[in-house]
Amino acid sequence: MGDIPKSIRIGGRQVKITIVEDLEEYGNFTEDTLTIQLKKTDAETMRVTLRHELMHAALSISGISFIERLPEEAIVRCFDNIFFPAWEKLCKP
Ligand SMILES: [Zn+2]
Repeated sequence: MGDIPKSIRIGGRQVKITIVEDLEEYGNFTEDTLTIQLKKTDAETMRVTLRHELMHAALSISGISFIERLPEEAIVRCFDNIFFPAWEKLCKP
């Protein structure tokens, strides 16, 4: 993946991506403004963080994140830590 785009269309919505110099966390997704903020850091960390926040956006836009007591962060971290590493290993030639 090359440069971080300015926005991504997901679930029929346009999600803005802004890069913030001194963000206190690696990233966040704000449902009200459909914005992902990414901390300015190395390219790989930003790529993985964008993927993480996009999963939050997908869960939010789809309505799944509104299920009461959904362990959303745990679900997203499962994909971060278990699913994608396995998938990427599979995709490598
Ligand atoms: Zn998260």
